[in-house]
Amino acid sequence: MAEEEMPEERRTLNGYLVCIDRTICVGFEDCVTEGPGAFRLDDEGIATFDAPESVEATDLLAACAACPVDAIRVLDGEGRQIVP
Ligand code: SF4
Repeated sequence: MAEEEMPEERRTLNGYLVCIDRTICVGFEDCVTEGPGAFRLDDEGIATFDAPESVEATDLLAACAACPVDAIRVLDGEGRQIVP
């Protein structure tokens, strides 16, 4: 389906759906700095999930919102986009 074409990594965390669009990420690392443990850069310098389950929801949302190029989207439990 169309979803397979989307270059996104997705996780459901604290009731939110967090999506990293790895084609948009340019490795600024703001998300890594804002929410330590939530994200890391992979060998290509692109953001991926680290251990976001261990990060408090407020810190996780702050990390997602910190991305300067809006590579991270967050949807709430009802599918409404709350970040960016
Ligand atoms: S802040 Fe955005 S551009 Fe920077 S590493 Fe994270 S996802 Fe990528």
